[in-house]
Amino acid sequence: MSEAPAGRVFDVSRGRVDDGPGLRTVVFLKGCPGRCPWCHNPEGVSFAPEIAFDATRCIGCGECVRACPRNARPGGPGRWQLDPPARSDASADWRSGCTACGRCVDACPSRARRLAGRVRQPEELVRELLVDADFFAGTGGGVTFSGGEPLAQPAFLFAAAAGLRRAGVHVAVETAGLFPLRLLDRLTREVDLVLWDLKHVDAARLRRTIGRDLRGPLTGLRRLSAGSTPHEIRVTLVPGFNDGDEDLAAMARWLRDGPRAPQVRLLAFHRMAAAKQAIFGRPYEYAGAAATPPARLAAARDLLEAEGIPVRGGKARAPSPAG
Ligand code: SF4
Ligand code: SF4
Repeated sequence: MSEAPAGRVFDVSRGRVDDGPGLRTVVFLKGCPGRCPWCHNPEGVSFAPEIAFDATRCIGCGECVRACPRNARPGGPGRWQLDPPARSDASADWRSGCTACGRCVDACPSRARRLAGRVRQPEELVRELLVDADFFAGTGGGVTFSGGEPLAQPAFLFAAAAGLRRAGVHVAVETAGLFPLRLLDRLTREVDLVLWDLKHVDAARLRRTIGRDLRGPLTGLRRLSAGSTPHEIRVTLVPGFNDGDEDLAAMARWLRDGPRAPQVRLLAFHRMAAAKQAIFGRPYEYAGAAATPPARLAAARDLLEAEGIPVRGGKARAPSPAG
């Protein structure tokens, strides 16, 4: 395992219950080839490290500016007294000079700044995760790798998964299938459970919306369903994208045509991502979108079940807690 490449991780979240069986730790890997405009984990999109800035925590002390080797502040040098950077972060122009070196993060006394995307070695990550091995064993839990798209860092992912499984820890991977299909066999061999995010079954619409050809993920899900690896299909209801009756009926027909009865979990769209997008200084196309009402979730479940698709869940999707 020592020769495995390092990976970039933006969060490690313990004590989760929605990402596989039992009590779990979720490791969020940075970077995703997709560009879903509703993304619930915006810090997982870019492969590069980024600085999160939470204006609600900022006390305006200016330590971040003093620590910054790039003099990265809004309005440039000399503006600090008039325009404290943290308070005026909405402009986010300090980001244009930022190299994500992390010095401002270390200097910030109120944890208003955070580095998303630290480089981790698989063996030291596994050591950290195994601290909770007894909890995993006692609850039937384990570790789930999420993102971002965890298969975008396959060598790191498989090295960490192998280290955990050697120690008897159950390993799950949550993926949107945005990876080369040649990795699928290895995925099914080297993890215990696959959580597959199905976004839509209309490949052309997917391409228009997230900028990727999703025939690959649809083919991948078909192959996964034909095999014996335990898997769960997760569908987040996205307003105006896949939550209409026709969208869901098409999804149900596609799933019904698969090689075996699918296990589907429905997840609600939530509004937590809007605040997270702001923390990373990004505009958010879905800022005005409402959370999925419980009645819509129930109707979607009824529709899928009426089409013969067994459905579990129907709750708000839990994002990474970072930010
Ligand atoms: S991460 Fe480094 S370059 Fe970026 S604002 Fe902070 S100190 Fe400056
Ligand atoms: S160091 Fe932290 S608290 Fe102080 S101004 Fe910068 S972001 Fe705000």
